[in-house]
Amino acid sequence: MSDSLFTKIRKGEIPGTIVYQDELCFAIEDIAPQAPIHILIIPIKEIEKVSDASEEDINLLGHLLHVSKKIAQNHNLDNNYRLVINNGARAGQTVFHIHVHLLGGKSLEWHPA
Ligand code: 5GP
Repeated sequence: MSDSLFTKIRKGEIPGTIVYQDELCFAIEDIAPQAPIHILIIPIKEIEKVSDASEEDINLLGHLLHVSKKIAQNHNLDNNYRLVINNGARAGQTVFHIHVHLLGGKSLEWHPA
């Protein structure tokens, strides 16, 4: 299986701004930001979407949220931000490697449908 777009960014094979990295995940700036801060938190393990995750991934999924919180703190988001995971093409997912969107830095509307 070939590497996902995000894995290629992590490996430096295509350009991207990596803002965080640990043994389980990494984070990059979104190429088309929808808010002043728009960062994607991505597991190193290539799971296509949350609905493909299994029980062995429970800690990994929790880790993604914990790291999202830390990155929000580091960007002074003042405890006001949005975390989004699109699951499946009909839910808006376009890159099939799990990622948490961290959005903040402005007042956010809520119109997901
Ligand atoms: P999804 O629609 O799958 O939930 O989110 C995919 C996100 O990846 C989108 O917000 C999109 O802007 C971002 N994206 C797509 N291609 C690239 C790229 O080449 N580099 C970066 N940094 N982000 C990308």
